[in-house]
Amino acid sequence: MRVLVVEDEPKMAGLLRRGLTEEGYTVEMATAGGPALEWARGGGFDVVVLDVMLPGLSGFEVCRRLRSHQVWVPVLMLTARDGIRDRVTGLDGGADDYLTKPFHLDELLARLRALARRGPVARPTVLSAGDLRLDPASRRCWRGHVEIELTSKEYLLLETLLRRPGAVLTRDVLVEHCWDFAEQPRSNVVDVHVRALREKIDRKFGVAAVETVRGAGYRLRADGGRPTP
Ligand code: CA
Repeated sequence: MRVLVVEDEPKMAGLLRRGLTEEGYTVEMATAGGPALEWARGGGFDVVVLDVMLPGLSGFEVCRRLRSHQVWVPVLMLTARDGIRDRVTGLDGGADDYLTKPFHLDELLARLRALARRGPVARPTVLSAGDLRLDPASRRCWRGHVEIELTSKEYLLLETLLRRPGAVLTRDVLVEHCWDFAEQPRSNVVDVHVRALREKIDRKFGVAAVETVRGAGYRLRADGGRPTP
């Protein structure tokens, strides 16, 4: 079993190397995002342990780039912050699991065993519903063959909806995914941005993909939208 450990803090790196070696893993170490990305792209690892806070490329960015290059080696992210925002960013960026520091080595080993057993899982890089498509790697969006320019908030809203087509997402869930805690969005801010998003992806094309579910939230139709009368 070959594992790539990407961690810049010497103490933590040493702990991981010892623990994993004792468990019978062949351990390779990297201390920055750039080299880690090259090694992991080279292949030959059964699992990657990836710290979020790294010099140069962050762990999120390393993972996102691996996935955009169709490298599906299981990735366990290590996050120092116990923020849901980090976990969501990590998982949306293609990580398979995460562990918040500090953690017990036994828990790390259990998670790694599960990931290695499961093996690489390919995921579609382009999200779609009907003729509505979004490419998270390049942050581009199309309806049919027409490319649509989105603001960063519109993009995040659409990506969140497209990851769960047909499901009703509450305003709270949308805020959690699309706004940082520090931004403290006002209560109607989701509605304002959804309206702008609809204008670009629906109204211009005479369809309705983003539906309002009264008293609950919003839902993106899995068929990409029905024609509006
Ligand atoms: Ca670090």
